[in-house]
Amino acid sequence: MYDVAVIGSGYGGAAVAARLAAHGRVLVIERGGWWRPGEFPETVAALARTRHRRGDPDGLWGVRLGAGTGVGYASAFGGSSAINYGITIRPADHAFAGWPVTAAELAPWFERAERALGATPNPRAVALPDGDVLDALEPGARIDLANTIDWPRCDDCGRCVPGCNAGAKRSLDRSYLATALAAGAALRLATEVREIAIAPDGYRLHLRRRGGGGAEWVPARRVVLAAGTLGTHDLLHRSAIPLGPRFGRDLSLNGDGLAFLYDSGRRLTAHRGAPISTAVRLTMVDGDGARRTLLAMSGRVPQAALRFAGAALAAIAGVAIDPAAPRDHRAGRWARRLRDLIAIGDRGALARTLMYKLDGQDQGRGTVRFTPTGAVIDWPDYADDPILRFAAARLRAWAGAIGGVVVPDVARLPGFRSFSVHPLGGCRLGADLADGVVDPLGRVFAPAGGVYPGLRIADGAIVRGSLGVPPSLTIAALAERIAADLERELLLSRTAAAAH
Ligand SMILES: Cc1cc2nc3c(=O)[nH]c(=O)nc-3n(C[C@H](O)[C@H](O)[C@H](O)COP(=O)(O)OP(=O)(O)OC[C@H]3O[C@@H](n4cnc5c(N)ncnc54)[C@H](O)[C@@H]3O)c2cc1C
Ligand code: SF4
Repeated sequence: MYDVAVIGSGYGGAAVAARLAAHGRVLVIERGGWWRPGEFPETVAALARTRHRRGDPDGLWGVRLGAGTGVGYASAFGGSSAINYGITIRPADHAFAGWPVTAAELAPWFERAERALGATPNPRAVALPDGDVLDALEPGARIDLANTIDWPRCDDCGRCVPGCNAGAKRSLDRSYLATALAAGAALRLATEVREIAIAPDGYRLHLRRRGGGGAEWVPARRVVLAAGTLGTHDLLHRSAIPLGPRFGRDLSLNGDGLAFLYDSGRRLTAHRGAPISTAVRLTMVDGDGARRTLLAMSGRVPQAALRFAGAALAAIAGVAIDPAAPRDHRAGRWARRLRDLIAIGDRGALARTLMYKLDGQDQGRGTVRFTPTGAVIDWPDYADDPILRFAAARLRAWAGAIGGVVVPDVARLPGFRSFSVHPLGGCRLGADLADGVVDPLGRVFAPAGGVYPGLRIADGAIVRGSLGVPPSLTIAALAERIAADLERELLLSRTAAAAH
């Protein structure tokens, strides 16, 4: 009998496992494999081969398409840390307005998570021209981001997504999960939890291992669900555990978006490798007077997609994408665009392009729909969210200042749709059953009253609303707080057992 079974090894599961492994019998169950440097896909063909499909333990990355939106995720030891940029940032305090826990209460847990993840700013960022351009466009708004990267080992190859083959990324297998394993946590890789059943002394988990081998039921006194926002929905739905009325509602896509200022009048870096390390943080005030953050990060086109991006943007620039934006007719544009079609280099149009990865505080109007292949998020008019409109307006203003063709949101192009790698919520933290699915310590509310003893959620699904910045640090901080409470519970039950 395990004291705690942790389902999923992303930021939430890894933080909980690291803090509890020294205090009881902890089992971590992860459906994906352990991807090591040298094994990540680098070509379009390899990417296609490593796509995750339901029940496939060998897939690395996956996509779920809902109405109006698509969501990207990872299936791997370390969750999405295996394939992400490792940007580690705290949200502004106003992101926690309306939460049942305040920014001040969360501050010590953020500090704990920051120490464990060990992110540092890019020492080479000063040499990149995008910082100067951003300073000129939005004076005083630029911030240098911190990433979980060993910068001396990073060769700026720009392949952080979908995985670092140079061993420079400090993904969770090198931080929290290494701590958990060193402290004695048991690990089941390539093993999917199919169902959670409530038992008199805790829970039974139905496991399906790589290659089959029949059903296995593993007992645990406590279960921490950390299977990622969609994975946690899948599992709760399959297990038919009765939940409150907010289950699967109020999901945010964290204002995720992608925009370009193509072929501008300034030398830029969309074509060059290097992790994302520069951004501007802007604030809009919505119709209700609430402040909302927009983080516009200067990105790089993934190396495997450079030729495609060069051709696609050249084609898009030939048509009127955004009639409200200033049109740019600078000399030499066709030669620059043609050069990108032959070979990407410093004299092409991509070398004058700002690629914007946007994160912002959207209105959180997504809903989960359960399909035969798993949970998807529906939000048909996500692309019209006020934060994405605000982002498009800033981009037009920048085009007025430095020229370039505005592609305000690739989701609006024919054949494309909004896409997010930051799905949040659906099991949000709340004060009670009417307000949320879990309490501020991740305990799951039971419709019959109280909470399910020993059942907690500690991943992106509990994040109450849009953060406006990449979410991994916040998920880890919330999980740290939940783990501290579980640690107290484990110590108490050990003391009680010793007294008998
Ligand atoms: C391409 C990409 C880039 C990103 N860049 C950043 C960034 O730079 N900074 C940032 O802060 N955020 C970034 N994010 C988002 C961030 O990585 C996620 O928000 C975060 O990883 C979510 O953590 P989590 O604990 O909710 O679960 P996840 O990281 O999603 O992990 C959940 C794990 O549970 C496993 N699982 C699911 N179901 C089961 C089951 N039934 N049984 C067993 N295991 C299961 C999955 O395989 C997965 O490994 C990015 C995400 C992606 C996809
Ligand atoms: S840019 Fe650096 S961290 Fe990213 S994949 Fe390349 S070596 Fe790894």
